[in-house]
Amino acid sequence: MFTMNYKDTLQMPKTKFPMRGNLPNKEPLRREEWDKDNVYEQVQTRTKGRPLFILHDGPPYANGDLHIGHALNQILKDFIVRYKSMSGYHAPYVPGWDTHGLPIETALTKNKKIDRKQMSVAEFRQKCAEYALEQVDRQREQRKQLGATGDWENPYITLTKDYEAAQIKVFGEMAKKGYIYKGLKPVYWSPSSESALAEAEIEYKDKRSPSIYVTYEITDGRDLLEEGTKIIIWTTTPWTIPASLGISLHPDLKYVVAQVNNEKYVVAHDLLEALAEELEWENYKVIKSFMGRQSENLVAKHPFYDRDIIVMLGTHVTTESGTGCVHTAPGHGEDDFYVSKKYDVEAFCPVDDRGYFTSEAPGFEGMFYDDANKVVTDKLKEVDALLSLKFITHSYPHDWRTKKPTIFRATSQWFASIKDFRQNILDEIKEVEWHPHWGETRLYNMVRDREDWCISRQRTWGVPIPVFYGEDNTPIITDETINHVSNLFREHGSNIWFEWDAKDLLPKGYVSEHSPNGKFTKETDIMDVWFDSGSSHEAVLEERNGLERPADVYLEGSDQYRGWFNSSLSTAVAVTGKSPYKNIISHGFVLDGQGRKMSKSLGNIIPPAKILKQFGADILRLWVASVDYQADVRISQEILKQVSENYRKIRNTFRFMLANLADFDPKKDAVAEKELEEIDRFMLHRLQNVITTVRANYDKYDFADVFHDIHNYISIDLSAFYLDFAKDILYIEAQNNHRRRSIQTVYYETLVSLVQLLNPIIPHTTEEVWEYINGVEAKYVQLTDMPEAREVENFDEETQKKWEHFMKVRSDVLKALEEARSEKIIGKPLEAKITIEAKDEKTKKVLESIVHIHQLLIVSEAVINEAHPKAKDYNYVRIYVEKHPGEKCNRCWMLSDTVGSNEKHPEICTRCADVVEEHYSHLAK
Ligand SMILES: [Zn+2]
Repeated sequence: MFTMNYKDTLQMPKTKFPMRGNLPNKEPLRREEWDKDNVYEQVQTRTKGRPLFILHDGPPYANGDLHIGHALNQILKDFIVRYKSMSGYHAPYVPGWDTHGLPIETALTKNKKIDRKQMSVAEFRQKCAEYALEQVDRQREQRKQLGATGDWENPYITLTKDYEAAQIKVFGEMAKKGYIYKGLKPVYWSPSSESALAEAEIEYKDKRSPSIYVTYEITDGRDLLEEGTKIIIWTTTPWTIPASLGISLHPDLKYVVAQVNNEKYVVAHDLLEALAEELEWENYKVIKSFMGRQSENLVAKHPFYDRDIIVMLGTHVTTESGTGCVHTAPGHGEDDFYVSKKYDVEAFCPVDDRGYFTSEAPGFEGMFYDDANKVVTDKLKEVDALLSLKFITHSYPHDWRTKKPTIFRATSQWFASIKDFRQNILDEIKEVEWHPHWGETRLYNMVRDREDWCISRQRTWGVPIPVFYGEDNTPIITDETINHVSNLFREHGSNIWFEWDAKDLLPKGYVSEHSPNGKFTKETDIMDVWFDSGSSHEAVLEERNGLERPADVYLEGSDQYRGWFNSSLSTAVAVTGKSPYKNIISHGFVLDGQGRKMSKSLGNIIPPAKILKQFGADILRLWVASVDYQADVRISQEILKQVSENYRKIRNTFRFMLANLADFDPKKDAVAEKELEEIDRFMLHRLQNVITTVRANYDKYDFADVFHDIHNYISIDLSAFYLDFAKDILYIEAQNNHRRRSIQTVYYETLVSLVQLLNPIIPHTTEEVWEYINGVEAKYVQLTDMPEAREVENFDEETQKKWEHFMKVRSDVLKALEEARSEKIIGKPLEAKITIEAKDEKTKKVLESIVHIHQLLIVSEAVINEAHPKAKDYNYVRIYVEKHPGEKCNRCWMLSDTVGSNEKHPEICTRCADVVEEHYSHLAK
């Protein structure tokens, strides 16, 4: 008798690929390696000459650390860039940063305690630039930590000279086409600091104000209202009455004419009762009612000026308070301004920079606006237009610096006239592909209803509006001046606008009819930051080597329909007539596990940095792949733990396959496709199906389906079937056994394909696996192409149907085994002997044609014939399960009647004995 350790005769799996990912520690090292090896550049070199695919980066604002929304955005972009680079495209990715604007000015004055009064504008701007660039560096590291590939060393930054020069050109092109004009618009104005304020510079505080009810008498009521009927308005800013040009009613509200003694008053139906109480009407009766829209263009008269007051329709009117009739002064309110615009009523503002009335308001000239409240009220009383005066305390906007109240005041602003090219934008919107589809309607409606774009800001940190003024104050914008300024900015940066005299910024010897004495001044306003980022199609797509306009994809959060999608489209259509993008993809917001917004006060913010430290970037990326990103998405510790479980499953699958391919050299050991075992050809065919669906879903930007396809394939096809039953062949058969090599051949292709398909999603992990795969030529997965689905050789539809039918029978068998287990007939399924009777011809043929069917079902024996009388009934078969009467083979662990029949190897079955005899007799002692 031989003594032999049968363990030595098994082909046990072996690999050094670690079970645990240890991602937080290992990912940074891998990214260092990518940097050192210039992998991004290698990818670019490899794909050069292929069709271009450009995902154009919407620039995040360079202030503060990345939040989870940034991470979602960056990772989604990276999925696309990586996928396209591996599927037939040249897909360069140039990251960008938005670097101008108030938050940076604020960060300097507030957080860095910089006193801007101690320095020149140019010096302050220099500090802003330095700060912004620090933020860029910081965010660059954070963006790279997510595993995002790209040209990180050459990003685009909106404060660079080239960028600003290109932006000036965009402005110039628009001006040349006549789209840029100067007009009045009310903005927050602080009389105490004599400056316009941005919304962010406003603080709300309580203020005591007069509350007055005023009547406007109808002079032309057509056939709706009698002359002398009075419309009642309510206001807490009596000083705006001298600037009153209209009264707004809501088109869809019901209004009434109420008779009180001899007077007839118009008010909203819903407010009548409250108003009667407020004005102490003892007897009143409704003598007429009408819808707001019927009153359009009726005419009233100003209470004390000889001025027509037009009745306008505005949806800003509410019934929350007041009378439902809103006194409208387009020079002193934003809603007022827009509603008046529709009636061609221009903003009128008889108040100067310091808040004092000008001669345009007779009777109040030289009076401070707040002091005028009383005088105006007295005047209203005198002309019998005042119904009531009280005082209220309400929340009112104040200047955050001086803490004094602000007003709305119309000032000169620069506008881009959207209406001149609105139709062109709307037409272009229809040419774009929208993901999700509702994006189209959203942007379409926004553009349709959009007012002209106010592009000027009375700030410091931004791109100057490149306009000169002649001695007669005429704005000068010509091709010549624009090109000159653009070139100067390209050479020196835009700070020279604040350092040089106007004449030095103009072409040498420039003359203009508006400046007979050769004197010029320059505009001091800067451009809206949306104009900066909205010019990136020119500054980046058009001007950079290797990129082109339009881009294939813009991908941002759904708040960018209002923002960057909108501003980019507007400037691009204005300048080129075309959309700067072919596809818009938008994503939702990231909420906490309970679906609440993340906020400091709720304490539910999860910074990406924390996730990277605890779980690793690939887990965060796998989370992104698992959610329906086009809607709002949720994240929490529990959700991330679940994602980690899924990750472990993927990682274990990779590890299992690597371990079973340890002795497989694809060049030497692969089995020719047509000679593969039939089941292996079937599994190879299944792989092709997965490749087809996964790639189709990538092409549709449907990453959740990519994830689910792969997840299901790994858990159902591989883990629960192919990787499981194959152990009995891979471990037990001799190394070069045909069935064993056949499985390994298919495992190999499966592993390589899966690693490639998952590379865009979990690049750190797939590159790690790649290092362990024998015989791959490329150093990195990202330097290979995605697998292409193909027809499997020697595999026809009939064979496919046969195996699909087998899989159905198999699920019956699994059910039978599970039942036998719960009835304690067997312990492990491997102990089972099953007797199967086919219930129909098709099933019978299938069962009879499969050799080693017990292996595929992972039982010790499967007898196909007429079932035992006690057999149970299933869908396709009747099955009788019993505990196998044989003994357990010491080598393969199957139960077999043949254990003991070989005298030399009494502990093992004859199948094992044959393998051992033939291949391992040299191991016998
Ligand atoms: Zn055996």
